[in-house]
Amino acid sequence: MLSRIDERRIRTLKAAPLRNGPVVYWMSRDQRIDDNWSLLFARQMAAERKVPLHVLFCLAPFFKDATWRHYAFMIGGLREVETALSDRNIPFHLVRGDPDFRIPEFLDQIQAGACVTDFDPLRIKIEWKKQVTEPTDIPFYEVDAHNIVPCRVVSDKVEYAAFTLRKKLNRRLSEFLTVFPPFEKQDGHFRHDPIDWDEIEKTLPADRSVPPVKQPQPGAAAAHRMLKNFLKTGLKQYETDRNDPNRDGQSNLSSYLHFGQISAQRIALEVQAADPTGSFAFLEELIVRRELSDNCCLFNPDYDSVAGFPPWARKTLDAHRKDPREYVYSKNTFETARTHDPLWNAAQKQMTVTGKMHGYLRMYWAKKILEWSASPEEAFETALYLNDRYELDGRDPNGYAGCAWSIGGMHDRPWVNRPVFGMIRYMSLSGCRRKFDVNAFVDRWSN
Ligand SMILES: Cc1cc2nc3c(=O)[nH]c(=O)nc-3n(C[C@H](O)[C@H](O)[C@H](O)COP(=O)(O)OP(=O)(O)OC[C@H]3O[C@@H](n4cnc5c(N)ncnc54)[C@H](O)[C@@H]3O)c2cc1C
Repeated sequence: MLSRIDERRIRTLKAAPLRNGPVVYWMSRDQRIDDNWSLLFARQMAAERKVPLHVLFCLAPFFKDATWRHYAFMIGGLREVETALSDRNIPFHLVRGDPDFRIPEFLDQIQAGACVTDFDPLRIKIEWKKQVTEPTDIPFYEVDAHNIVPCRVVSDKVEYAAFTLRKKLNRRLSEFLTVFPPFEKQDGHFRHDPIDWDEIEKTLPADRSVPPVKQPQPGAAAAHRMLKNFLKTGLKQYETDRNDPNRDGQSNLSSYLHFGQISAQRIALEVQAADPTGSFAFLEELIVRRELSDNCCLFNPDYDSVAGFPPWARKTLDAHRKDPREYVYSKNTFETARTHDPLWNAAQKQMTVTGKMHGYLRMYWAKKILEWSASPEEAFETALYLNDRYELDGRDPNGYAGCAWSIGGMHDRPWVNRPVFGMIRYMSLSGCRRKFDVNAFVDRWSN
């Protein structure tokens, strides 16, 4: 049975003798039932050993700069997870509190025989897993269900350029871009205590000053509707329309991908089927750029500080540290969109109001934070804070890599030397005007 899951996706976090108790799938990054390699592995292990499978989610009260906007979206998706598991006769448990304490406690209570979880390159998740596995004496497995080619398989070091990772990915892609087996119903009968989501929503101590967004709707069903709509109306024009912030030319799938409500592998399969030859630009973003971000966070322990920028970028930023800045803004001035630049303010407002800044503007936005901050360190910190707090898809490897690309030359090359930026690639307002109708965008977001 286990042969259906490629062994290279699986990593043993703790080797211990298997105990004769239920297999627990600790769902964390990949919050979906279908197309989930880690859940499939847990299901197969349980079936093989003829023990029940239970699914566990640990709701931590605080997670980086996550606000009510993020928790509301996540809970919306988890409501669906509960129903889908119940339809498959699989008990779903939700515990609240710090994972290092609540998960070992749950595994103990249920007398678990083994635990399986998903893969996440972020430091906080790696730390949680260490703390959870330490006190337990059952085997623990991690399965990469987020990447098409598993992050640890594609490379074993930080890749500073997209082309090196692209080459490695392309060599392996056909081995891993395979069709998913179905996720079958579990035999037997299990009592399921319904989760009181309304109570959870009411009592969660999340920062309520950033409200939920109206669109996109949370959950796997909405994610698949969004994909269907993109295949029908957006994919063909993606290459030309995606860089115009006045058009809805992107797929809008990033929040679903971030919360694991849809699988990147499923998207890639559907996109290839819909347009076998014309989907290159989209797959470059979905596969190469996205997997490059996971690589950046897994193998670069300083992914969220200037120390993690490539050496050439640190050197050039350092050389321009003392350059006079035409404007220097505080974090608060940036946050409240009160800079002198109407385009920057409009982009910031788009993000705070809708939870999604257009992809093209994210680059301009972050580069201007570098230009108008007292130091690269302050700029990077401000960009990450705002990105993580307001973007619905924030707190993601793509966000750390995106901000590091814009401010610290990550995955980029040296350009022409200029004040403040040194050899970091520059972007200007006049450049934006050549690309799209800046005034139309500003008008839309000026009130
Ligand atoms: C400063 C900055 C901050 C960013 N912050 C985030 C973030 O917090 N979360 C996030 O998911 N993305 C982030 N990105 C990457 C990118 O802008 C978004 O993924 C994209 O705009 C999301 O919209 P979409 O799903 O409609 O993308 P589409 O253009 O439709 O692309 C499809 C998918 O490909 C992936 N993708 C696209 N562009 C990139 C990229 N440059 N790098 C990595 N993956 C990419 C995403 O998973 C995206 O959902 C950031 C980029 C920059 C420059």
